[in-house]
Amino acid sequence: MTATDTSTARRVAGVLTSSRQREGAGFVVRRPFPVAGLDQIDPFLLLDEMGPTEYAPGEAVGAPDHPHRGFETVTYLLEGAMEHRDSTGGHGVIVPGGVQWMTAGAGVVHSEMPSQAILDDGGRVHGFQLWVNLPAARKMISPRYQGFGPDELASVTTPGGSRVRVVAGEVAGLTGPVETTSPVTYAHVSVTAGDVVRWTPADGHTALVHVFAGAAAVNGAAAVEGQMVVLDRAAGTVEVATEAGAEVLLLGGAPLGEPIARYGPFVMNTRAQILEAFEDYEAGRLGSIPPVDA
Ligand code: MN
Repeated sequence: MTATDTSTARRVAGVLTSSRQREGAGFVVRRPFPVAGLDQIDPFLLLDEMGPTEYAPGEAVGAPDHPHRGFETVTYLLEGAMEHRDSTGGHGVIVPGGVQWMTAGAGVVHSEMPSQAILDDGGRVHGFQLWVNLPAARKMISPRYQGFGPDELASVTTPGGSRVRVVAGEVAGLTGPVETTSPVTYAHVSVTAGDVVRWTPADGHTALVHVFAGAAAVNGAAAVEGQMVVLDRAAGTVEVATEAGAEVLLLGGAPLGEPIARYGPFVMNTRAQILEAFEDYEAGRLGSIPPVDA
């Protein structure tokens, strides 16, 4: 193993530990944040690992019609199939390796459900949902939906045998297909045993490495599955090394540095804007999902 150039390595600010817990109707999630005392890692508001859960026929659960305003929801699926419908008429099925980047902006009502086949016959579901905050000046932009299949992500196998898939931003010289509203990097790296993957986040940006399988050393900090390594924002590199293999998400983004008022599915800057969001939703101004054609 070659020596790390520690003069340019980002300092590890902390390691968050998350464990699997059952939510609501039986949805298993692992959530490094938000947790008590850590309501966001600017510009990120939430990361949920959904499952992996093996559903029996008729048991699968999802999130029926609900609203969002003021941020973006990003769904990246590893196993299973999720069907999405929204009040703009958007409709799609996310398949393994695919991503849906939904900019709620001024507001949408959407549903996020396992596919009909999984509802009927059961099956395994595993994926992630990330919430990305929107800058104050762009919270009320028109809703937008970007969907990409597994073959549409930028991907490469490194000389060391690791697989890098880039959803957004730039990693390993690849640029992901998603057009983000503020600068965001999102990549999934399967780090092969004995390899080291290097990432250089933009100076001043938040940088997170979430280990969801195996174990890794991130700039020297040990992390096992369920742990997220939070790097300092000072300029520098991030190295993910593993002896036995690891699956990780790399998340980077420009911090917004703006006040947050947050309640349930709405994330705004002031309490008055949250009340307005509830009023608009209750008055039907966020729309409704069009009926499904026979
Ligand atoms: Mn949602």
